[in-house]
Amino acid sequence: MNEENILKDRKIKPTAVRLLVLRELMEIDKAVSLKDLEQLLAHSDKSTIFRTLKTFEQQKLIHSIADGSGVTKYALCLESCECAPQDQHFHFHCISCEATFCLPKQSIPLVQLPPSFTITQANLVLKGVCANCN
Ligand SMILES: [Zn+2]
Ligand SMILES: [Zn+2]
Repeated sequence: MNEENILKDRKIKPTAVRLLVLRELMEIDKAVSLKDLEQLLAHSDKSTIFRTLKTFEQQKLIHSIADGSGVTKYALCLESCECAPQDQHFHFHCISCEATFCLPKQSIPLVQLPPSFTITQANLVLKGVCANCN
């Protein structure tokens, strides 16, 4: 699927900036912050980049990650992702280079909850040292 169709598939109108942001997210193998994207796309308007991320998140094209660094990071969702608890996965945060990676194969474990409790979100971050820093 090309970038335009990936956006259309998530009911997002493909604009030039949206395509640029998507391309960056596809090329990078780690989660990025708004600031990272602003630096990568230095010629694009900052508020447009911010709005693009919000639109992508709303349409479940990307998910946000709170990795404990205090800065929200974003990464692409898998094609079938609905961002439901069963679609969520562990993340890995490198304490050396501060990079955060998705571990999409490590979905969240089934947790026994008290009656009438429901999960809406899971924030599972493993910390350690990544391959680049090891
Ligand atoms: Zn690292
Ligand atoms: Zn992720």
